[in-house]
Amino acid sequence: MTTEMVHDPDSVHTYPRWEWLRKGRMPHIWCPGCGLGSATSYFIEAVEKAEIPPKKLAIVSGIGCTGRIAGYLNIDSFHTTHGRAIPFATGLSLARPKLRVIVFSGDGDLFAIGGNHLIHAARRNMHMTVLCVNNFNYGMTGGQLGPTTPLHARSTTSPYGNYEHPFNLSHMAYAAGATYVARWTVLHANQLIETIAEAINHLGFSFVEILAPCPTGYGRPNKIGTGLDEMRFYRENSVIRHNIDPVEAEIDLHNRIVVGKFIDIDKPTYLKALWGGVSRAQKVI
Ligand code: SF4
Repeated sequence: MTTEMVHDPDSVHTYPRWEWLRKGRMPHIWCPGCGLGSATSYFIEAVEKAEIPPKKLAIVSGIGCTGRIAGYLNIDSFHTTHGRAIPFATGLSLARPKLRVIVFSGDGDLFAIGGNHLIHAARRNMHMTVLCVNNFNYGMTGGQLGPTTPLHARSTTSPYGNYEHPFNLSHMAYAAGATYVARWTVLHANQLIETIAEAINHLGFSFVEILAPCPTGYGRPNKIGTGLDEMRFYRENSVIRHNIDPVEAEIDLHNRIVVGKFIDIDKPTYLKALWGGVSRAQKVI
């Protein structure tokens, strides 16, 4: 995003979407070619598509480049400590069940230090949407190896190549209990807007993995090139496969990237199970 107003003749909107942004926080900190600006724009479009008034939304993020999104969006937002976005969001969702609680954070924040919180919120089918931007490294702190860094990829802490097996985030979220799971790259603009809108309207724990270029932390050491080069890579290597078991959606950056809507199932949310349990208990008493 730049601070200059640009009008897209094919759109009814004027960009940047100042009505959704905190002007006082601009200019943003993101590097040229970073995918986070696109992810933010798609989120705004998706919320409008889902017809959710800003007052019914709350956004929570942890620490990292993605975590900045909460501070830039002009809605009720909470920039929490590292890895703790999900417990914060859980409290919000329980106290204000009608609120649409969105967690917008990065792969390191959500699946490393925050991993335990994520699996238990998914297990409980807590009513929230988790938008996880996966750029395969810890970008903000200097491009270190993270739990999503692909095997053999270079980072500042794996200069000779990573020898750890990475998480398949979509599979992990599903295995833990998420009832809506999808993955797209930031190149898939329309699909991502549709998916985020659907995920926000899903009852229960919805998880959307957004693959995004990090030309500074991941692209440079792996000689991928600019953010645009990484987008080209997405275009040439993405394969859409809806309704598959996410275990089949292992990311192989040397071969192909499986994207699509994988899971969409009904299951009682935590609160529904709790309230059902209370009424059953009352009948017994
Ligand atoms: S370090 Fe990576 S993720 Fe962070 S702003 Fe720069 S390009 Fe984006």
